[in-house]
Amino acid sequence: MYGVIDGTGFEVLDPSFEACFIGHARVERLAEGCRWVEGPAWFAPGRYVVWSDIPNNRMMRWDETDGSVSVFRAPSNNTNGHTEDGQGRLVSCEHLARRVTRTEFDGSIKVIADSYQGKRLNSPNDVVVKSDGSIWFTDPSYGIMMDYEGERAESEIGACYVYRWDPESEEIAAVATDYVKPNGLAFSPDESELFIADTGGTHDPGGPAHIRRHAVSGDGRSLGEGAHFADCSNGFFDGFRFDRDGRIWSSAADGVHCLDGTGKLIGKIHIPEIVSNVCFGGPKLNRLFITATSSLYAVYLNVNGAR
Ligand code: MG
Repeated sequence: MYGVIDGTGFEVLDPSFEACFIGHARVERLAEGCRWVEGPAWFAPGRYVVWSDIPNNRMMRWDETDGSVSVFRAPSNNTNGHTEDGQGRLVSCEHLARRVTRTEFDGSIKVIADSYQGKRLNSPNDVVVKSDGSIWFTDPSYGIMMDYEGERAESEIGACYVYRWDPESEEIAAVATDYVKPNGLAFSPDESELFIADTGGTHDPGGPAHIRRHAVSGDGRSLGEGAHFADCSNGFFDGFRFDRDGRIWSSAADGVHCLDGTGKLIGKIHIPEIVSNVCFGGPKLNRLFITATSSLYAVYLNVNGAR
């Protein structure tokens, strides 16, 4: 259950990657037995990672103090992406209930957003919280395309947008409307830009498998036009996170891809299952947690995650 596994390792594609990892640090498998895992999030005060096991309609928890794995919440409304807000609260995307929620300090669940202009959201996929408390999330249609990870339904909105939830008005606004399947998203470490993955190629052979970058407006409420950042060379950029130095660590079919600030692929962490998402954790944010198909993996790196 816990130990060094075959099929893992670091691949250097540019010399700059060599400083990013520790030669003798190994990838470990921390949990297994899930069906399709997503949405890892690290909770520093409790020293645990929460993630989704979407088809099994549950959220899991791995405890750093003793390595134990347990069910965090079930049923979970087929949650997908998670993050923690600036106060340490869990923010979750729910496929089945087609909404974004926040778990409050008393354990109650607050609905952040479930509709746009009177129409139900599709199936929120991934979410990030900006330092001003605004919540940004993607709304592709994966959770309503099949019963396996949600419930089949027609899209009421008829498109897949990226939204921003305003902490004062508690309203959402569409901030990017030209994506096929917007998926993972992350702010650059200084929050001047928002990077968004488009995984439209999953159901359209010629469709996008890339990340675009958008300038965030001065008032922090809107985005500039997206500019192409990088194409995924193997599978899809589903979920990704920044390290403190501005590199992106992203999911891909053959593992984790590390991109430098120009979008160049500088190295890989090979993982023997298709990777969906990553997050940095541990007290120093120098451990990368990786959700991949049926398992949760982790590896210590020589970089630190951006907050
Ligand atoms: Mg995703």
